[in-house]
Amino acid sequence: MKKTLSSKQIEFSQAVGYLLLFAKSRSISIKITCLYRTPEQQRYLVKSGKSKTLDSYHLSGLAVDIAIIKDGKAVWSKEAFEPLGRFWADELGGTWGGDFKNFEDCPHFQWKDNMRLDRYTDFTEVKPEIVSFNIGGEKEEDDGQTNL
Ligand SMILES: [Zn+2]
Repeated sequence: MKKTLSSKQIEFSQAVGYLLLFAKSRSISIKITCLYRTPEQQRYLVKSGKSKTLDSYHLSGLAVDIAIIKDGKAVWSKEAFEPLGRFWADELGGTWGGDFKNFEDCPHFQWKDNMRLDRYTDFTEVKPEIVSFNIGGEKEEDDGQTNL
């Protein structure tokens, strides 16, 4: 069955949740800097050379940009993003911008079909009383809602 945009967004939101918990478990301080973009914002970014595509996953709410904060300053090196990128791509099966061949974009994490959200993920340093999530639980009824 073909996934609706809404069901993709739900999967993506869960994946972002895991990414935030993973960062927390590694004491990596991050903040979300961009989630949804309007077509106008995307056109502006392409014009100013900050993006290469008008067909960005941000337009569907299926990509997130994050900043890593160290000592109060944003850090943009690939080395800093690597643990998060490897977790996102290798553990969750998503697409990490740091793996883009033509336009490396380390702060960018996007949805990919068949992300592995039912796999156990080791958050050993996160206290269990703080984190309670249901992995592989009941599936929500699909309301067929498309993007707003
Ligand atoms: Zn992005």
